[in-house]
Amino acid sequence: MTDRKKLVAGNWKMNGLRSDGLALVAELAGRARAAGEGDKIACDLLICPPATLLGLVHDALAGSGIALGGQNCHPMPKGAFTGDVSAEMLADAGCSHVILGHSERRHGHGETDALVREKVGAARRAGLVPVVCVGESLAQRGAGEAVAAVTAQLTESLPKPDDAGEAIIAYEPVWAIGTGLSASLDDIAAMHAAIRRDLSAETRILYGGSVNSTNAAAILALDDVDGALVGGASLDADSFWTIVRSAN
Ligand code: PEP
Repeated sequence: MTDRKKLVAGNWKMNGLRSDGLALVAELAGRARAAGEGDKIACDLLICPPATLLGLVHDALAGSGIALGGQNCHPMPKGAFTGDVSAEMLADAGCSHVILGHSERRHGHGETDALVREKVGAARRAGLVPVVCVGESLAQRGAGEAVAAVTAQLTESLPKPDDAGEAIIAYEPVWAIGTGLSASLDDIAAMHAAIRRDLSAETRILYGGSVNSTNAAAILALDDVDGALVGGASLDADSFWTIVRSAN
């Protein structure tokens, strides 16, 4: 079996001002630096703050080993796209990753698989690793269509043929995001196994959906779960760090 290092990623969504956001990142960077010197952490770490904080968080993360990511990007490198941020701009701000196709963008902003696919290309053009989110709705799960829906979404959201470089996949059941409801361990394992069949052995598959300090260890211990994409619990240093430690 390929040895895939786990990744724990925090998606701050539209949360964080300089006051609380920088205090949080200072705390996490401090813990990561201390871990680097002694009690090592076994996973990679990624923080995706709002765009307004990227430069400041980048500086605060120096020497911590924690990577920086954006939460979205436009497919074009620059131009008349008011309010948008390009992949090149994220890279320029110090990002190495970008979350794409999060359900809050698919459902809240009408993003299609085709658009997500374009954004994956943009991320790679700028040298960023895309973290591509897929997940079924409650109706699709209820109808027994979860695996078919997610694998179709995955296929359509990645460039074809996808031989252009690294991608990280995040399986996030829509009904589990921010609701406190997590998918059952059996359902997570079954979905990750189904996704794995369509991917190279090196590709990391994260689980996301109400991961917290209590459920993380069991989820991260599952086969084919190569880490977690964490929303709400990433806003609290102790909760996030407990999740990070669960990946050991
Ligand atoms: C997310 O933002 O991708 C997410 C999974 O959020 P939460 O952990 O709050 O459910």
